[in-house]
Amino acid sequence: MLSNSSILEQYIEEAEREGHLTFRRDFPLSSLSSFRIGGNASYVIYPSTPDELASLSALCHSISIPNIVIGNGSNLLFSDSGYEGAVIVTTQIKDIKIDGNTVKVGCGASLTHLASVVAEASLTGLEFAYGIPGTVGGAVYMNAGAYGGEIKDVCVSVKAYDGVNDEIYDVKAEDCGFGYRESVFQDSDKIILGAKLVLSEGVNADITEKMNQLMQQRIDKQPLNYPSAGSTFKRYPGYFSGKLIEEAGLKGYTVGGAQVSEKHAGFIINVGNATASDVLSLIDHIREVIKENVGIELQTEVKYIENPADQ
Ligand SMILES: Cc1cc2nc3c(=O)[nH]c(=O)nc-3n(C[C@H](O)[C@H](O)[C@H](O)COP(=O)(O)OP(=O)(O)OC[C@H]3O[C@@H](n4cnc5c(N)ncnc54)[C@H](O)[C@@H]3O)c2cc1C
Repeated sequence: MLSNSSILEQYIEEAEREGHLTFRRDFPLSSLSSFRIGGNASYVIYPSTPDELASLSALCHSISIPNIVIGNGSNLLFSDSGYEGAVIVTTQIKDIKIDGNTVKVGCGASLTHLASVVAEASLTGLEFAYGIPGTVGGAVYMNAGAYGGEIKDVCVSVKAYDGVNDEIYDVKAEDCGFGYRESVFQDSDKIILGAKLVLSEGVNADITEKMNQLMQQRIDKQPLNYPSAGSTFKRYPGYFSGKLIEEAGLKGYTVGGAQVSEKHAGFIINVGNATASDVLSLIDHIREVIKENVGIELQTEVKYIENPADQ
């Protein structure tokens, strides 16, 4: 009888031959994460269509292979011991279809690329997303936002896959549980296959100017020359976490290769060979100091992906 990992291997080898996906064995997760941190994954798989993503996830589910779906890895901290299982990366599922003001987009499309494509079509509403280094799936999962805009403002429905009932269906925006960096997808195993957005007609030059302005603000304020996962913590109502961390005198505070950015205290940066343990220790330290100083419990925005073998 074949072991579960042999069943997966057989499936992905055949699917690769047929052109449905590509995959890597024993692959460094550091190269899939904007933090540049993480051990190796047993399998990293790139499905090329939403159906293939759903099939792959169904297979992993049915043979009990631990698996996780990721986009661009820009909000993740992978474990130093890696991921014993399948890391499914959506970045090949990137179709964009524009029909009037409506945009149907695959989960793996880059937000920045999408913002440029809709700008060319003179559609406004996604300027805020220009410069967020994630995918549409990651943005829906996180309800990503910046400069006063959020994905929930333009998303009217999400195409999702429910592995438990093996069904693909549309989730209306009002049922997505969108809140500040929150969505219903964070509390479920459902996979985001794509999204339908509705934008408004605008003037191409104005849209482009706005996007360039926002990009410049990012360049001016954020430590983009170091690996990071963006804002480490969520905003606590009424407080900016970066400001709290700066006021606590923690700018530049370092654990191993992980450092509170001097440029923007809301970011933890990898200043050289940081490990996930360094980042987690630094997060704990910051949380303790802020709790002691102002009595607030900061919640992380960055998602830590534990190795299922360590659980
Ligand atoms: C320099 C920098 C700047 C940033 N600026 C911002 C900002 O301004 N605003 C903001 O909101 N964020 C920002 N981020 C964080 C990050 O880019 C966003 O959270 C983004 O939406 C994550 O998308 P991703 O594709 O990289 O998701 P990933 O990091 O790959 O995944 C994030 C989570 O989503 C889940 N996920 C991803 N795709 C799917 C899918 N198809 N189905 C189900 N689950 C899925 C993953 O399992 C994971 O739990 C920044 C990050 C960096 C490094």
